[in-house]
Amino acid sequence: MAPLNLARLIAVAADTIAAHAEELTALDQAIGDGDHGLNMKRGFEAVRAEADAFAAKPLPDALKAIGTKLVMTVGGASGPLFGTLFMALGKEIAADPDRSGLAAAFGKAVEAVAARGKSQIGQKTMLDVLQPVHDALAADKTAAEIADIADAAAEATVPMRALRGRASFLGERSIGHMDAGARSTALLVRSVGQAIGESA
Ligand code: ADP
Ligand code: MG
Repeated sequence: MAPLNLARLIAVAADTIAAHAEELTALDQAIGDGDHGLNMKRGFEAVRAEADAFAAKPLPDALKAIGTKLVMTVGGASGPLFGTLFMALGKEIAADPDRSGLAAAFGKAVEAVAARGKSQIGQKTMLDVLQPVHDALAADKTAAEIADIADAAAEATVPMRALRGRASFLGERSIGHMDAGARSTALLVRSVGQAIGESA
């Protein structure tokens, strides 16, 4: 794979989250408490502020440090879960991973999120995007295809009934709205694809 420009990737991800913060807030207002946009923006701006320091580290250490920063800054239920995703990815990934190594490490990271959230696919959470993204990575799909799969997976949370997180308190009334964490995950997946595409 082309060498990863991590500083650029962080900038694209933070820009994307900032541009969609109001949308994420609105999604979380419908079936949660409305803080997801601000939570994600705060976390990714904190990562952006230290982008050069992260980018100077070997990839596994950089991912672990980003995960730790997200745990400290995002807050809510999603902070520890996104933090776990990045920390576990950093723990599993090689310094210069090939595609199958990346897919395997991402698979372990998704398992770590599921364990941390005591959640599984179909419960209307970020996992409903993470799992199909892992499957697409393992199936050698292109970055653009993976981004489309992530968007479709977020869209597919609309008819689901939430069984985890705050939205689960609403029971049937959670049906008909997209899960905010599924949407933010799809946005991050597209930013990663975009940043990698630029450096390829
Ligand atoms: P909070 O729910 O504490 O307000 P956020 O609004 O930042 O935190 O994040 C909510 C998102 O976190 C949800 O949309 C969902 O995708 C994700 N989430 C919440 N609980 C879980 C869980 N147990 N497993 C997986 N994802 C979860
Ligand atoms: Mg919330």
